[in-house]
Amino acid sequence: MLEETIKEAIRKIALLNAINYGGKAQYQPVLGKLLTEQPQLRARIKELVPLIQKVVAEVNKRSWEDQRKTVQEKWPEALIKEKAEVERTLPRLPNVDKYECVVTRFAPNPDCMLHLGNARAIVLCDEYAKMYKGSFRLRLEDTDPRLKRSALPFYEAIPEDLRWLGCKWDMEVIQSDRVPIYYEFAEKILAKGGAYVCTCTQEEFRRLVSAKKACPCRDLPSSEQLIRWKYMLNGTYKEGQAVVRVKTDLNHPNPAVRDWPALRIINPKKYPHPRVGSKYRVWPLYNFSAAIDDHQMGITHIIRGKEHLTNQTRQEYMYKHLGWKYPEAIHYGRMKLTGGLLSKSKIVEGVRKGVFTGWDDPRLGTFIALRKRGIQPETIRRLIIEVGPKTVDVTLSWENLYAINRKLLDPRADRYFFVRDPRKLRIKDIPETMIAQLSLHPDDEKRGFRKFEIVPRNGVAEFWVAAQDSDLLKPRKIIRLMGLLNLQIRNARKGIVEAKFHSKGHEEARKLGAPLIHWLPAGTGIPCEVVMPDATVVRGIAEDNCRKLKPNDIIQFERFGFVRIDSAEWKLAAYYAHR
Ligand SMILES: [Zn+2]
Repeated sequence: MLEETIKEAIRKIALLNAINYGGKAQYQPVLGKLLTEQPQLRARIKELVPLIQKVVAEVNKRSWEDQRKTVQEKWPEALIKEKAEVERTLPRLPNVDKYECVVTRFAPNPDCMLHLGNARAIVLCDEYAKMYKGSFRLRLEDTDPRLKRSALPFYEAIPEDLRWLGCKWDMEVIQSDRVPIYYEFAEKILAKGGAYVCTCTQEEFRRLVSAKKACPCRDLPSSEQLIRWKYMLNGTYKEGQAVVRVKTDLNHPNPAVRDWPALRIINPKKYPHPRVGSKYRVWPLYNFSAAIDDHQMGITHIIRGKEHLTNQTRQEYMYKHLGWKYPEAIHYGRMKLTGGLLSKSKIVEGVRKGVFTGWDDPRLGTFIALRKRGIQPETIRRLIIEVGPKTVDVTLSWENLYAINRKLLDPRADRYFFVRDPRKLRIKDIPETMIAQLSLHPDDEKRGFRKFEIVPRNGVAEFWVAAQDSDLLKPRKIIRLMGLLNLQIRNARKGIVEAKFHSKGHEEARKLGAPLIHWLPAGTGIPCEVVMPDATVVRGIAEDNCRKLKPNDIIQFERFGFVRIDSAEWKLAAYYAHR
């Protein structure tokens, strides 16, 4: 009887684990959960192991729909509890059962810093690998030293950005290390008659292929193809004189698919490669190298934008020639960002021409710029998981990103005063020493307080208030200095604003409907410059308590917004995140 209860508990945990992870429960998390729920079972772990293995195997034999149905019938409350979690998970990948383990990859060209436009490919591939306890792999695609030339700093910067995003990969390849492998397969596919070396001019080839006709090179014997291949490698053919083409169906409705180019010659003296110099004169084109690598790296699920659909069609011909099986391919729709730049070419051009101050210019959606502004990697992950791998195009706004980030920053950011463009306020008739005690965080008093002591001289004290509050500082208006006192404006001519003490309590201010403004005692504080999202700089004074801040601290300047401290020396430099 007791055994049956334990078995039932295991079954429940295994089923829940399975429905959250695409229909496959894993032994370890099931054991872990069981021991958390019933710690007394620790002593019996030896007999539990085979029992759990048996139950997990039983559960995994069933379909996801079936597993879910059982949970719904037997433990509906568990589904409600898990709902929050499930909502954050992605739809299942197709045909996971066909593979021993899910392997995904991210394959950028190291010719630009990573940016929000890359986020979907990265986050989906990494999340799916994590969801199925599979592998995520990184491939740097740098085989075009002529038009899409890579640059050395990006070989370091891309992995750094990925680590910041929380990605973990178990394999990293750089295509320029693999040129001999591409040569090997080029030779193989030429020998098999699956490809040919075409020496026609581009115009001639295009004319023939658009008429669905073979060029004269196509049907030459493979012995002749291999000689031509040697001529490509040894320099007999010059740049533009020969190209390896993969044979496809010449009647394919899309002319761009027909006998696509796989390898071409690039003048190694004129276009040396940033990593391997002038070592190679024949370079694979995108489809050829990517197809070989996906196969050799064991990729089971390719997740990429739908602009790659034609590439799948192209590569499938090549897989057929080589007797390989094409991986599962998931193509998601385009992602647009209103008011943001997601086009790599525009980012690169803007940085090169000096329109932007650098890759970390706050106007850019590069990860390095977002990081500088205090956007959290978790924000990007959550945003992408919400969007998922849908095939429809999606349009996002910066506000979507900020809303998620705000939720993450709000509970952890301490609050401080920052007076932007300070203006002096003189208050008369202050009856006594005033103490303001403001909490570092409104929801968490345990974090401590900031204390300001105002000692009036002959009833007078001076403050700094933000020039942007000038609209409120109109004669006879009653204002509350947050946490300190209420005052009535007497006159607000240019220069100093004159006021007199009105009352002390917050209640009084509330009754009078007095607006709250933030402030600093005149003569205190630390100069602070905040770089705004449009790259303008806002200057002001931050309260003295900010002197203890360190670079990378993220705080909220009250009534201003969240900022990330970039440097903290005799003055503070910060980047604005959002309100
Ligand atoms: Zn030809």
